[in-house]
Amino acid sequence: MNFANELINWYQKNKRSLPWRNTKKPYKIWLSEIILQQTRVDQGKSYYLKFEKEFPTVSSLAKADEQKVLNMWQGLGYYSRARNLKKAADQVISDFNGVFPTDYKELLKLKGVGKYTAAAVASFSKNERVPVVDGNVYRVISRYLNIDEPINTPKSYKIFSEAALELMENCRPDEFNQAIMEFGALHCTPTNPKCNECPLSYNCTALALNIVKDLPVKKKKSKVKERFFNFIITNNASGFAIEKRNQKGIWQNLYQFPMIETSNHKHEFSELKKLIETDDRFENHKVRQVTQIGSDRKHLLSHQRIWARFYEVEFDEETNNQKKLVRTKSLEHYPIPRLIERFVEEEAPHYLK
Ligand code: SF4
Repeated sequence: MNFANELINWYQKNKRSLPWRNTKKPYKIWLSEIILQQTRVDQGKSYYLKFEKEFPTVSSLAKADEQKVLNMWQGLGYYSRARNLKKAADQVISDFNGVFPTDYKELLKLKGVGKYTAAAVASFSKNERVPVVDGNVYRVISRYLNIDEPINTPKSYKIFSEAALELMENCRPDEFNQAIMEFGALHCTPTNPKCNECPLSYNCTALALNIVKDLPVKKKKSKVKERFFNFIITNNASGFAIEKRNQKGIWQNLYQFPMIETSNHKHEFSELKKLIETDDRFENHKVRQVTQIGSDRKHLLSHQRIWARFYEVEFDEETNNQKKLVRTKSLEHYPIPRLIERFVEEEAPHYLK
């Protein structure tokens, strides 16, 4: 048997039963693929079922309020995916007459849909002959064919998709694509691949050369940016203040406690007090007391490492008229970044009630 047949044979015996595998509907396949980006399958499953129930069709998603979509997305992180989900649904209504596209090139026009997602939707729904190339596919192909091109360079996608296209010859693209991704996820895994019981071991180049652990190759990433956030919690009878992040960049359109960014966390309370008192969001009121809640928190994003501190701040006078701030008694109905959600769950659950 050749590579594709061995692979599909393995897939038929070993595939996991996942809700999005029982459909050919492009909308549902797309929904699952967006949720599964940067998310583990077991975590993504419950979100998929929740979204599928709430928004069974693309028009129901297009009609939804963005805030609601962001709220439902809470806990998954990378909120740009949720915003794009809504924008793409709107596009399907406005540009495609409400009919979800299945053609690879058309799918690429949708917001948030890249080559991988377009290939997945086009091949799973309509059997279009386009290979999917995700982390699992990179790994399987780099090992099987001994391709040592780093997988995180701009040209790697072309090299690996051409290799995948050749390997999928004479078989059904939907089956091949599902099979190779599942094989990478369950069998040819990053560590401890099951080479001893592998149906592809007979022709696997990396195994023959004893270089399985050296593949795939990754180019070293550029330096991660360090950022230092100071969240200010101001309580009074009308609740506490939050603000919406309108600026581009991380957490756009999510809510947070008013935040002051500093170049490090070496400051004393007195310096922080001065920063708060000269910040027009707090109307130049004098700070009576600053208390840090909990310890410093580290939060990792793809290119940034965020160090966060949360402070409870008491002012000499009540500040109720801050222009850019919203006063609330609960965060329950606001989409908030995972960092803040974790802080509240662990240190101040009353802010959610
Ligand atoms: S023999 Fe090992 S490295 Fe090669 S495809 Fe199978 S599991 Fe992967």
